[in-house]
This record gives sequence, structure tokens and C-alpha cells, in this order.
Amino acid sequence: MLGGFISKKYFDRKRVVFVSNAKSYIESVKDTIQRRDPNQTEFQEAAFTVLDTLEPVLDKHPEYIKANLLERLVEPERAIQFRVPWQSDDGQFHVNRGFRVQFNSAIGPYKGGLRLHPSVSLDVVKFLGFEQVLKNSLTGLPIGGAKGGSDFNPKGKSDSEVMRFCQSFMTELQRHIGPDLDVPAGDIGVGGREIGFLFGAYKRLNGYQNGVLTGKGLTFGGSLARPEATGFGLLYYTHAMLKALGDTLTNKKIKVSGAGNVATYAIQKATEYGATVITCSDSDGYVYDPNGIDFKLVKQIKEVERGRIKEYAQRVETAEYHDGSVWDFDINYDIALPCATQNEISKDQAKLIAKDRVKYVCEGANMPSVPDAIATYRDNNIYYGPAKAANAGGVAVSALEMSQNSERLSWSFETVDNRLHDIMDNIFEISEAADKEYQLNQDYQAGANIAGFEKVAQTMMAQGLV
Ligand code: NDP
Repeated sequence: MLGGFISKKYFDRKRVVFVSNAKSYIESVKDTIQRRDPNQTEFQEAAFTVLDTLEPVLDKHPEYIKANLLERLVEPERAIQFRVPWQSDDGQFHVNRGFRVQFNSAIGPYKGGLRLHPSVSLDVVKFLGFEQVLKNSLTGLPIGGAKGGSDFNPKGKSDSEVMRFCQSFMTELQRHIGPDLDVPAGDIGVGGREIGFLFGAYKRLNGYQNGVLTGKGLTFGGSLARPEATGFGLLYYTHAMLKALGDTLTNKKIKVSGAGNVATYAIQKATEYGATVITCSDSDGYVYDPNGIDFKLVKQIKEVERGRIKEYAQRVETAEYHDGSVWDFDINYDIALPCATQNEISKDQAKLIAKDRVKYVCEGANMPSVPDAIATYRDNNIYYGPAKAANAGGVAVSALEMSQNSERLSWSFETVDNRLHDIMDNIFEISEAADKEYQLNQDYQAGANIAGFEKVAQTMMAQGLV
């Protein structure tokens, strides 16, 4: 029913004309989300943040209201939950939950990562899948949005245990994915090792189809520059933003959080741009090194040795290790790049970011800043690059991996990296253009939401009631 958001209704001769009100429509969609899934707080946070920025677009396009487009947008096309039984090395049987939320396929096959972490729930996967829809749209590539994962914790598990889990997970997931249907990739807890095990399991059941997963090893269809893509892309986006504002990365002091895939390559690229990255972290604590973090050592400790970031300070004389969040560490710097996880920056921590004279926050992780933190950035004139724009480099290169798989060709590192750079520049440009068109006063978050939304909305309208 459209009644809840129609503010005025009058008769124009034989026609009934509805004068719709964008704001009340948005509120009605938020009410529906809350009523349907009152406990899905992460999804609500992600969806409400986007919906709140779409009012000017709906004012311009009342036909979207008439077509009840937003309610369709916030409802996944499909949400799959399944049992994942597996056996640990000591012979015990375990059961985890697996999820795949296929959110929106308007502009292409479903695409989005798999996360293995104890915090994974339907709520978390829905929030990530929803963000993925607009993020994928921003890349300009023909990919829809999805996300998946499990509450399995790979930390401390042996390679054999991780392999058995991945095989069991894929035994069910394979029914729902395919190179032209849904193409998962990595996310937290899913790197090259896990993608290899998942691909092997898929292949046993369905034969060799290398386009079914991205983030693969180079010997079976992986793309050069895919591991680097999210971190490098974050810096290309940040560089584009600073350039547009007449600034540069050279000699900037940067705080990075996290020490995983995204953080490691963000540190590398920031250093190449002439900036100094003074921190990185894991879920126990953070390292501070005024001389600049060595990304190779972070990679060695976290990826190769699967150790803790504490060990960094034991190996580097100028580095200090502290327990707790890096966002509680009080020191002046210029740029914050959160690259760990969702909701890692609270309102109080955002206030400290402002006090520490930070001018830019660009997000490598998904939704690392709570809504009040984002409001704090705005109140303090901090330029803010939201995750769906700033970290889209990973999925963009995943889509380029799909192109290479279809062509049965491998592109050089330079070719992929150049295309990534162009894509990230373009994401900033279209977000900035939307910001200008709707006079949002350098609100790059709203600009990105609108730019991502417009393509999906136009496509859904063109495809009828889908
Ligand atoms: P990884 O698993 O490789 O690394 C995650 C890192 O964050 C680890 O160092 C982890 O430490 C740390 N971490 C987790 N929770 C916290 C916490 N509460 N406080 C501080 N550090 C924490 O994941 P990725 O680097 O792949 O992903 C990081 C973020 O980037 C996620 O939000 C992900 O969704 C997003 N992202 C990733 C993409 C990709 O291509 N990989 C693409 C786009 C977004 P510990 O070892 O202690 O767990």
C-alpha cells in the first residue's frame, strides 16, 4: 500500500493525482524494516543511513515512490541460511551456520565476499549485502550485490580444519552460485587459502569453472593485483579526494587500523605516495611507529606466520605496542584510514579524531564509523570518504578477474592496476558530481549513495516489477 507516505491527494478531472512526499515515504520504508526485522540492528544502521540521503532523488523522481522502489531495494531477492557440519582434528563434530544473501541482481550477477568470523549472522550479512549493491553499482561494472559467510572462527584452526570446513560450506553453497549467477570472493577471514579450498570443493562437484569465485590463486584464474586491490584502491580514492580539495598525500601522517588484507596494502600504497603510516592494529591492540609501519613485516606476521600484531613491536626498535583500540590513542595526525571492521569508531573516538586535527577519514573497512561518528566528522569539517566508495577497489578488480576468466586471458599487473586507478578516480568523480547536482556541500557520503542508487533505480524501473 502506498497510503502511508502519500501526503496529499486530490482529483484532477478524471485522474487521481497523488502528491507524494519523499520524506514520509522514506520514514514508512524505515518503519517497515524495523517492523519486519526489529533485531537486525546492523542492517537497519546501513539501510537507514542510505535511505536518509535519498530524499532529493525521490523529490526529483516521484515515479520511484509510486513504484515503491525503496521497499524493493531493501528486501533481498533471496536469503539462504544453511547448516555447516565439520570435524576438528581431535575427532569432534561441530556445526556452524552458513549464509548467502543475494541482495540485488538488477545490473548483473550477484557479487560479494564471504566472511568467516564468530560475529557473522543474517543481520551482518544483510548489512554487507545491501552496501554491496550500491558499491558494485559505483564501480561502473555490470555486477549485482550479495554477501555471505559463516560464524566459523578460523583463528587458531589448523589448515586441515579450515579445509574441512570450507569443503562442507561449499557442498551447500554450490547449489546457489555460478559464473553467471553469483560469484563470491573473500572478506574477513577468507583469503587465498580459503578461496583455494572453496574452489577445489566446487570443482569436485561441478567441474572446472574458474569464473565461479574471485580472489583465486594465479595458477587457476586469479588476477594479478587482486590481493592489493582494496588497499591500493582506498589510497587512489583518497588521493582523488585530496586532489579535488587542492591537497596531496605527500608528507601526511596517517593512522591505519587493522593488519589484514586491506590494511597491509593501504600501508604500502600510502607509503609509496610519500605519506607516513604511524599505526596498524588487530583485535587485541595497536602498534605505533613514528618512523612508519613496514607493510612487509605486517604481512609476514599476520598473513604468513598467522601471528599477533604485538610481535611487530618485538621486532622493530622504534615501535611500541599497546592493548586496546588505536582510535583511543591521542596523537596529532592528518588522515584516518579505518581498515579493520564495522563500528570500530564510536562517537567519542570520532571526537578524538577531530581533536587530533585530522582533516580526512576514508574507510577501507565496511561501515567502520557508527552514524554518530559520521555526524561528528561533518560537525568538525572533516572530509569523509564512505566505505562503499573508498573500498570498492576490491570488488572492482574481482569483476576484472571475471572478465579475464571469460576471455581465458591474464592481464599484466600494470593493466589491472591502471584500470583500478581509473575506476577509483571515476567513483570519486561521480560521487562529487552527485554532491554538486544536489547541492550537498561536499557530502561525499550522500554523493556516493545517490550515484550508486541512481543506476540501480533506473535499471529496476526498466526491468518492471522486480
Ligand atoms: P582480514 O581478515 O584480512 O583482516 C581484518 C583485520 O582487522 C585483522 O587484522 C583483524 O585482527 C582486525 N580486526 C578485526 N576486528 C578488529 C577490531 N575490533 N579492532 C581492531 N582490529 C580488528 O580482513 P580484510 O582486511 O579483508 O577486511 C577488513 C575490512 O575491509 C572488513 O570490514 C571487510 O569487510 C572490508 N573489505 C575487505 C575487502 C577485501 O577485498 N578483503 C573489500 C572491501 C571491504 P585479528 O587478527 O585480531 O582478527
